Amino acid sequence: MNLESSISDLPLIGPIYQRKLEKLEIKTIRNLLYHIPHRYLDFRLVSPINKLQPGEIVTVKGKILSFKNIYTKSGRKIQLGEVADQTGTISVVWFNQPFLIKTLFEGMEISLAGKVDWFGRKKALIAPEFEKGEGTLHTGRLIPVYPETFGLSSKWLRSRIDFAYKNYNSEIEEYLPTKILKKYQFPILKKALYSIHYPSSLEEAEKARKRLAFDELLSFQLINKKRKKDWEEKNKSYPLKIERGVLDEFINSLPFTLTESQTKANKEIISDLSSKIPMNRLLEGDVGSGKTVVAAIAAFISFVNGFQTVIMAPTQILAQQHYQTLSQLFKNQKIRISLITSQIKKRDLGRADIFIGTHALIHQKVNFEKVALVVIDEQHRFGVEQREHLIKITKKRFTPHILTMTATPIPRTVALTLYGDLNLSTLEELPKGRQKILTWVISPNKQKKAYPWISQQIQQEKIQAFIVCPLIEESEVETLKSVASVKKKYEELKKIFKKEKLGLLHGKLKAQEKDDILEKFRKGKIDILVTTPVVEVGIDVPNATIMVIEGAERFGLAQLHQLRGRVGRGEKRSYTLIFTESKSPQTLTRLNALSKNLSGFSLAELDLKLRGPGEVLGIKQHGYTDLKIASWSDSELIKLSQEVSQDFKFLPQHLKKQIVAN
Ligand code: ADP
Ligand code: MG
Repeated sequence: MNLESSISDLPLIGPIYQRKLEKLEIKTIRNLLYHIPHRYLDFRLVSPINKLQPGEIVTVKGKILSFKNIYTKSGRKIQLGEVADQTGTISVVWFNQPFLIKTLFEGMEISLAGKVDWFGRKKALIAPEFEKGEGTLHTGRLIPVYPETFGLSSKWLRSRIDFAYKNYNSEIEEYLPTKILKKYQFPILKKALYSIHYPSSLEEAEKARKRLAFDELLSFQLINKKRKKDWEEKNKSYPLKIERGVLDEFINSLPFTLTESQTKANKEIISDLSSKIPMNRLLEGDVGSGKTVVAAIAAFISFVNGFQTVIMAPTQILAQQHYQTLSQLFKNQKIRISLITSQIKKRDLGRADIFIGTHALIHQKVNFEKVALVVIDEQHRFGVEQREHLIKITKKRFTPHILTMTATPIPRTVALTLYGDLNLSTLEELPKGRQKILTWVISPNKQKKAYPWISQQIQQEKIQAFIVCPLIEESEVETLKSVASVKKKYEELKKIFKKEKLGLLHGKLKAQEKDDILEKFRKGKIDILVTTPVVEVGIDVPNATIMVIEGAERFGLAQLHQLRGRVGRGEKRSYTLIFTESKSPQTLTRLNALSKNLSGFSLAELDLKLRGPGEVLGIKQHGYTDLKIASWSDSELIKLSQEVSQDFKFLPQHLKKQIVAN
């Protein structure tokens, strides 16, 4: 048996416990040793019984004088015992654990730990931790509290981890060079795993946690490094010719000059496209930073070289909009653009140079003859499989160049780790001349006054507005209940806005209905668009300058920022009104952060601190492995792991087996 053996090989772990442990992602003995406590209970103070004070958290060692089940009038069972040491006696009480009578006997040496309290008029330990004898595992020290699951208590885990550590610690091998251990004052691995389960101080535990967190981040880095290498070695692409003159002519024909970031990203992409190694690049940029045109330039290069481009967007609305944007940008070119939707008939699937669509692109069996470029917009909205599927079906003799884009503002250090297998381009600034969007958090009593103001703005300034209602149920897609609630709101608003034309948009509408409504909104035939967060991604209607977000406490900062990004796209002053019923100071702090008009990137950093990383990045939903020990907000340690990963040419066996599952 070794660290890679199944936990079922350990004593006291049968099929039932094995299944429970698997819920905690523990399959091997190594996994068990890496089950990291999330906190500790401090039972270090061992006290003589006559010194005990109510409220103290202590360990007491003594002998059981008596122990029995008693029954209260209400039929409850209480387990009552007396324990004595040389200095005195104390009561010990449990509730509804009659089976304890089989474990605890008169005359037994016992160690108990917990809070000293009153039981009637006597001092007592209520439901303390306990163990037979001297007590070294569950009492008398800092005891670890582990992530638990139904039927697996920390006490049970503690004893199994203790067994595993005692019997297998000799197999824990160090893989970090001594030089690095010394430089960063990391404890060696065996010591770190000891300290995390048996720390003598919280500082020691923290040092151990840091070491293990570092290992986890390093493995992340190295796995991505390996993926990147594999991509480069196993794929060949079409090296595209860059005809500078033709390209510049096209860029000069654009209705605006590119921002510095756009030009830089462009250069990076061009360099990738001209290589035999297929591009695998992530273009990260805040809402409105102008990613589309960067993708369009890449598509143009592909076209000039006689190849096709496929652009996949997460929603019908967005695909439709890209279709219009690109048709406009390429209006003087002989580029055939085709919009692929789930409605389209097979016979309509003609030849094209650029295919734009949702994941219908995957299912419609489009005739991809020679695709040199695949663009995946809002890539975080797709699962890993969908992305891979699209690449698979577009790959013919060669692998297409891949450009993925995202507006989820992820801090650069995090992006470099999470997407470490990709090259990264960032759009850091917004195009010039954008006005700041005035953002106000509006409390319930002021919300009524906001409506007449909006009406006035619409009449006087001839602008348009969004009113976004939250999804009522926790779900990525809109449930019937959420749709019902937005419909209700729509009816209410119709009574408030008598002069304005209102439109209703939600995800349960047919694609054609959605298009019609958006088209009307774009043309100014609808003044106020009442909608669910389906508008979150990508809608570009410059005349819409007011964004009202109802029930804003239900949204994350990043999502609110995305919604806000729907306005402020034209010359006119834009406003975001954040409606909330919440009075929680935490929520209000979070929402007020938006008023301070931070960029998406600083908001993401803040959200990371306030809500935790998984939620912000949606890592798990999108098929990425999340961190177990380290935290995405620990940018120092992330940087360190990046630095150290340079020294590794391979993935150490040990890391392969532990921590990151894939
Ligand atoms: P996102 O990065 O959110 O996808 P878009 O590509 O939709 O942003 O661009 C947002 C808006 O900014 C569009 O209306 C686009 O035409 C405009 N835009 C893009 N680049 C520039 C630029 N360099 N100067 C001015 N406007 C630009
Ligand atoms: Mg976009």
